[in-house]
Parts: sequence; C-alpha cells; structure tokens
Amino acid sequence: MTSRKTPEIKTKRKQDRAWLLATAKTVAETLKTRTGGTKLRIRIPRRATTTNTDGWSAIIGDLGNGHPRLEVWFDRFSGYPERKLYACLRSEEQQPIVSITKRVSKKLLPVRIVTVDDTDEGKFLILSKRLKRSEFSTPILEKYPDGRTFYGIYDPTRETAERVSPHFCMRAAAFFEDVVLALPHSAPEEEQREVYPCFENRKNVASHLQRERSKLLAIECKIRDNYTCQVCDIRFEDAYGKLGRDFAEAHHLVPLHQLGENVKTRMEDLATVCANCHRMLHRMNGKRGDIKKLKALVGKHRP
Ligand SMILES: [Zn+2]
Ligand SMILES: [Zn+2]
Repeated sequence: MTSRKTPEIKTKRKQDRAWLLATAKTVAETLKTRTGGTKLRIRIPRRATTTNTDGWSAIIGDLGNGHPRLEVWFDRFSGYPERKLYACLRSEEQQPIVSITKRVSKKLLPVRIVTVDDTDEGKFLILSKRLKRSEFSTPILEKYPDGRTFYGIYDPTRETAERVSPHFCMRAAAFFEDVVLALPHSAPEEEQREVYPCFENRKNVASHLQRERSKLLAIECKIRDNYTCQVCDIRFEDAYGKLGRDFAEAHHLVPLHQLGENVKTRMEDLATVCANCHRMLHRMNGKRGDIKKLKALVGKHRP
C-alpha cells in the first residue's frame, strides 16, 4: 500500500532485503516454539521475493493445504516516507480469510477494510483515508477486486539499529498466534490456572481471561507501559537484568459484569501489571478502580 503523499524512498539499500529475510526468519522461529499441535505449518524462509509495492516479502508458513499463507513484508506504505514491516495472512480468494476474521473478531476485529473507495493508481493502492499511526498494530483486512485478500498488522516503529526489530517480531508472532488459536481444532491454550474469587460468575471470568490472552493486545499494552507494573512500579528487567526482559502481564480493567460477548477490547482497557499484583487484582472485586486501590494499598504497606 502507498498513497500519493508518499515521497520517493531515497535509499533502496541492498541490505534491506537481507534485513527482511532475517526478520521473517526470527518471526518463524519464534512461532515454531509456540504453536505445536495447531494447524499452523511453519517454514523457515530461505529467500525473499520482490513485491509489486517496492519491497520484499517472505513466506513463513501456511494454515494447511489451500489455506492462507503467512507472510512477512517490508514495503512502501500509506503516506510514510519509509518502508514498513508487515505481517499478514494472504490468500488469492476472499473466503478463507474473511471466515478467519469472523472467528477472531472478538479480539482482533479488523480496524479498517480496504474498499473500492481506496483506488489503485499504477501498481500502488491509494488509501482514501490515510491510516493513523494508532491503527498500525490493529489488524487490517484488505480485499481486492481480483480476490486477493490480506489480513495483517503494520509496524508503527522505525527501523532499529538491531539486526531485527524485537518488538516487530514479538508483535508478528503474537498476531499469528492469536489467529491460529482462534481456529477450530487448535490445541487448547495451556495457561496457568489462577485462583479467582468464588463469587464471580464463571462465564464472566472466562471472558475476562480470554481478553487478557490476546497475545497481540497484551504485547501492545506492555510495550506502551514499558513493561512496568502499573501498581507497584516494578520493571523486571531493572530488577533481574536480561533474564527479566519483557516479563510482565496484561490485566483487563473493565469490570467483569460489564463484559459483553461482543464488546471489543481496546488498548485503553488493558494495564501492565507484574505477576504478584495481577494475582492480587484477581482477588479483588473486578472493578475498574481496582488498580488505583491496590496501588494505594501497596504505598501504605511499603516500608
Ligand atoms: Zn506489581
Ligand atoms: Zn487480570
């Protein structure tokens, strides 16, 4: 995708292609360790191919015969002067991907559907409305008249000096994981059992946890809060060094009794917490003010 506002990309570095390939490999390797027993078939990519949008893409797997492919792209994008990383499901027909978006919709409803109002110009797609940065990491469904369909997330961050962008790799793997776990015949999630207040209605608790388990949303939340507990302020990397890097949990703030089936989870409804504070929160009433209350408690009892 791109738009007429996109300035020419001045650098077309040779190493960009190698960088895309290294990134795609990392995403594939990350996914491989996490999605055993699901429909997902991961392939560690050996090459990147040139795309029609002035970039490169690599296939990292698929969802079985005739099902959508998993791809990682690095190409021109909507009004921004640099190439952007993109992780997507891709199919030559609409149906397989549209049915996937219906399954994952509670967690990862596409934020934008590309329509006929978005027009083609030459080989690029022109978005009638430029995508906001805040929409980058929420999935977008792109349906083209020839049937080609994409469902994926763009990366809002700039290129890093590191060999690959760790945040992008985490986001991409989390997105694919969310999608795969929403499909039928996926292995059940192995989540540690927590202790919940016995008076809570089971269905609500399950719904609450399901929202916290969206891997992509949880990662977005933790990146936003810099992996710092919003109750006690601990950041595991500061306390444990490298071992504690990226270690935190996401808690859903909306009161359990207000969780309807079709309410979309927004980033504002999630808060980063440490494992201890998270357990404590789940011993409380399940109300929106719980974090504030717990924070006050921690302050009071801290020596
Ligand atoms: Zn904490
Ligand atoms: Zn929670």
